[in-house]
Amino acid sequence: MATPENKLAFDGGWGYDPAPESTDHINIKNRYGLFINGDFVKPEKGKYFDTVNPATEERTSRVADASQADVDKAVKAAREAYRTTWGRMKPAERGKYMYRIARIMQERAREFSVIESLDGGKPIRESRDVDVPLAAAHFFYYAGWADKLEYAFPGRTARPLGVAGQIIPWNFPLLMAAWKIAPALACGNTVVLKPAETTPLTALKLAEVIADAGLPPGVVNIVTGAGATGAAIVEHPDVDKIAFTGSTNVGRLIQKTIAGTNKKYTLELGGKAANIIFADAAIDQAVEGIVNGIFFNQGHVCCAGSRLLVQESVADEVIAKLKDRMETLIVGNPLDKNTDIGAINSSMQLEKIQSYLKIGKAEGGEMHQSSCRVPRKGYFCRPTIFTGVSQSSRVVQEEIFGPVLAIQTFRRYDEALVKANNTPYGLSGGIWTDKGSKIFKMTQGMRAGVVWANTFNKFDPTSPFGGYKESGVGREGGLHGLDAYVKLGAK
Ligand code: ADP
Repeated sequence: MATPENKLAFDGGWGYDPAPESTDHINIKNRYGLFINGDFVKPEKGKYFDTVNPATEERTSRVADASQADVDKAVKAAREAYRTTWGRMKPAERGKYMYRIARIMQERAREFSVIESLDGGKPIRESRDVDVPLAAAHFFYYAGWADKLEYAFPGRTARPLGVAGQIIPWNFPLLMAAWKIAPALACGNTVVLKPAETTPLTALKLAEVIADAGLPPGVVNIVTGAGATGAAIVEHPDVDKIAFTGSTNVGRLIQKTIAGTNKKYTLELGGKAANIIFADAAIDQAVEGIVNGIFFNQGHVCCAGSRLLVQESVADEVIAKLKDRMETLIVGNPLDKNTDIGAINSSMQLEKIQSYLKIGKAEGGEMHQSSCRVPRKGYFCRPTIFTGVSQSSRVVQEEIFGPVLAIQTFRRYDEALVKANNTPYGLSGGIWTDKGSKIFKMTQGMRAGVVWANTFNKFDPTSPFGGYKESGVGREGGLHGLDAYVKLGAK
């Protein structure tokens, strides 16, 4: 779609011509049921809700609102599949199914990418180059572990837990589904997964792929709905494990609900990552890394680099370059390959971001936004930075989940460490410096699950991911990710 706004993002009409990805090769049904026991079925109460394209505010489809009875049906199907097929299957056979899912995802990558951008608002470049390939990579990676579990835990036996209840957010809808389903299946568990209410479509597409791959019925069940559906999964007595990614508030609620039960759990919650730039860093590269860390993907990333700590002697230079770069960012149609910042996921999220902009200003922060034009329809937000903020400012302490960067300065490395660690979160961070010794010093001192050096937001299925403090409990990804789905015993 040609958005004149995109053309005008560069001065004087010298911008890129629109380059939209076509939508004629995708197939979205008008209505989706629940994927239970290998079939799409109607919800018991017959209720459906709309899923909306945040870039156009138009309905993309209607999806079922699963009640407690539906969740119960899905858990029963998962239990039965665990008992009769998946839990007993030869591990190498499980691996074969998973490879098959990974290959079909790759074959249908274009369709997945377009639907991801339509449903969630993220730029097609991100969904095409990051989300979808990484989702397939998770299935490939964990498929390889299926018949090697005895080597993953030397001297111990690894047995599956049973039924895993998995609840995921809207920022990486397909990737989070793959991230959660793949290790669970590799270890012999069956699954009931709930995508976020604003981004259910790629998980439902994944259900189609799972059916096409011939996975035995009930091994993966996908139920759609909002918080109440999630709560029904958490509360279900026959679920052995809860894997949750989302807000710290809901994470706390889940912890309370399952306290005193035998359920295992992993929680991946919020973040307020600091990117730390030292004076000796390659400044242009660092500025690009900061832009990638907070503006691409609309800041809708729990490990987004939403804070910048810059050494005082280069602060003016960095901020000037950042402002310059912000002017060239294109905000607009997520399906356009030129777009850097797509749509904010929902009107509620946009309101939340806007309220933080007000809070930041009221607290005395100096706000600067790119002067780019944004489409009139849809939920969009200009890239924004705050300077002159203090450590106690809410825009420094709280997760905004939008393209908003809070900038502070530091003089000494220990000051940077204290500031970086001074939030309730500890999910990720970034260091930019020319000196390896500084990288080691800083990474040792940072209370964050992942620290990137001279890069940011790089993911790989072999690498564990998870947080300190209020950012969560447990690790996902890599060998550590297997641990969360097995009972270990003596050989
Ligand atoms: P976000 O702020 O990222 O939307 P949420 O924690 O609200 O984070 O949502 C993440 C996921 O948790 C979504 O799938 C949502 O439907 C689900 N969810 C919301 N409330 C609850 C709850 N009380 N119990 C279980 N899941 C919930």
